[in-house]
Amino acid sequence: MNSNSASDSAVGNASFALDPRRARAIVTAIAQRLIAATDELTQLDQAIGDGDHGLNMKRGFAAVLAEMDSLAATTTPALFTGVGRTLVMKVGGASGPLYGTLFMQLGKSWPPELSRAALHNCLHDAVAAVAARGKSQTGQKTMLDVLVPVVTALGTGADRGQLRALAGMCAEATVPMEAVRGRASFLKERSIGHMDPGARSSQLLIEAVCDDLEQNA
Ligand code: ADP
Ligand code: MG
Repeated sequence: MNSNSASDSAVGNASFALDPRRARAIVTAIAQRLIAATDELTQLDQAIGDGDHGLNMKRGFAAVLAEMDSLAATTTPALFTGVGRTLVMKVGGASGPLYGTLFMQLGKSWPPELSRAALHNCLHDAVAAVAARGKSQTGQKTMLDVLVPVVTALGTGADRGQLRALAGMCAEATVPMEAVRGRASFLKERSIGHMDPGARSSQLLIEAVCDDLEQNA
């Protein structure tokens, strides 16, 4: 059977649980992927920002890994809330409070029983909280240009392979955009022609989740 089939339970239609052990593995995979991309994210932010996005992600997710034993000793929603708090506290740049908000809202909205619809609703809440915190929306050359379409596609039945490909396309689609939010907006039309660093880190986050779910399906 095609491993990306929509019948796969991890982002399929069946109900499934995400116990704290699996949630810990997924957060660890996200942290490792983002830390490994430090140089690339730094270079993207050097082009249209202040060059700290790689280090911001590294600092935040290294702290998450360091605190993982205590964070993961609780429930899955409490783990996500703890990850969010750590990111808010440890990351100085705009991305810390924004990714922190994403995880904290995941912790608040996490449903007791996961179906595709319940997962979609929860992720929708989390991304909406980022948009509210950033006073931002899609089309402004930010992480939302990846997060919003991927969550929408999850809600309409996309499988892991489709979500991974969509995240890549959406990050690429920020290249011709002019930044309207964040530091890159100071450059106005000179922000055109470069990928948004936060869109790329969101793509990597989504890839890490999809890969982990695939390996553990
Ligand atoms: P800073 O901009 O403070 O240096 P980072 O470099 O770590 O922080 O993060 C920059 C990224 O944060 C941008 O590439 C963009 O994706 C995201 N970002 C910045 N401001 C906003 C906002 N208001 N809404 C959504 N995302 C934002
Ligand atoms: Mg920066």
